[in-house]
Amino acid sequence: DRVDNPYEGASVYVNPEWSAKAAAEPGGDRIAHQPTGVWLDRIAAIEGAGGAMGLRDHLDEALTQAGGKPLVVQLVIYNLPGRDCAALASNGELGPTEIDRYKTEYIDPIAAVLADPRYASLRIVTTIEIDSLPNLVTNTGGRPTATPQCDTMKANGNYIKGVGYALGKLGAVPNVYNYVDAGHHGWIGWDDNFAASAQVIHQAATAEGSTVDDVHGFITNTANYSALKEENFTIGDTVNGTSVRQSTWVDWNRYTDELSFAQAFRQELVRAGFRSGVGMLIDTSRNGWGGTARPAGPGPRTGVDAYVDGGRYDRRLHVGNWCNQSGAGLGERPRSAPAAGIDAYVWMKPPGESDGASKAIPNDEGKGFDRMCDPTYEGNARNGYHRSGALPDAPLSGHWFPAQFQELMRNAHPAL
Ligand code: BGC
Repeated sequence: DRVDNPYEGASVYVNPEWSAKAAAEPGGDRIAHQPTGVWLDRIAAIEGAGGAMGLRDHLDEALTQAGGKPLVVQLVIYNLPGRDCAALASNGELGPTEIDRYKTEYIDPIAAVLADPRYASLRIVTTIEIDSLPNLVTNTGGRPTATPQCDTMKANGNYIKGVGYALGKLGAVPNVYNYVDAGHHGWIGWDDNFAASAQVIHQAATAEGSTVDDVHGFITNTANYSALKEENFTIGDTVNGTSVRQSTWVDWNRYTDELSFAQAFRQELVRAGFRSGVGMLIDTSRNGWGGTARPAGPGPRTGVDAYVDGGRYDRRLHVGNWCNQSGAGLGERPRSAPAAGIDAYVWMKPPGESDGASKAIPNDEGKGFDRMCDPTYEGNARNGYHRSGALPDAPLSGHWFPAQFQELMRNAHPAL
């Protein structure tokens, strides 16, 4: 007896730990009451790593916040074997072959807690394995973007098996709403990646006992920076007879922003075999691109590059840049049913938490050093050999980054 859109008519859980960090920053009280995702990013997070709240602590607090009314709790399931195979900043604790530990030490205990009848009144949204399945399409095989780690995960099948197992186990809990990660437009909006990614997601959703009925929807743009709506140009525009698809920025992508992509990809997923009622979530935590650098109108019609670059809100150096992007701002505040096919805008990535360290920092979290987080890096095939656009002096991924938090508030759009 799941509802069609769990966010409709419900409030959303405010993580007290994130809220306290936000409130402790100058000006942070303006957003500290916003709901953000609770990331279960390692086995120890289930019980509470290093004194932090564990899963039961969050759910008990959620019952208090609910006060008997409908409430959504947003969890991020994020611990696949060989995690984040095309980047190093969020490599996890499980090696590429540790699928059995993923099942028995991570998914099974989470499913057992969620199935406790005590929590039956909560609407538990689980977002499944950020940045995993599209990697099997875009970063494998003979492509220039391939990495040996992604080739390994494709060959051993452990992303597919892990996601299938997670969906089946969590989907068996009647008040769990599974949303599978679906990348973002600047990753799978190209023809080579679009249908192929939907097919891989469907393959995973029908593996290891899962069926399409275990999938309530999909989430795009998680922890990414793709603008929600580029209002100063559309994909159909031409300049002097040349399509904006030929601009350096768009580079033949079919989509210029996240809303148009999410709506189109929803339909593609249905074509691939998912239920026609699936809904999308879009992470708008850091895709506002407001502040003084936001273009006030379209660029000049002197050429496609001038037109697109002069008008685009997304100020990244390349749409493949993903780490602590300089100039970013908070996006749309979380809300339910904002557009056709969209269940909610959400802040799944908690603003102020780093995407990765700017320099190598020894740690026991399995986190590597990815040069996409180093502002001096000159890039690789996955960002067209551009500079990384990352802020300097960032801590490890997931750790609190006050300078980024301040910039996100400064460049919020809508403004705070
Ligand atoms: C990190 C996680 C963290 C999450 C949310 C990810 O990039 O790897 O450890 O919980 O971001 O900030």
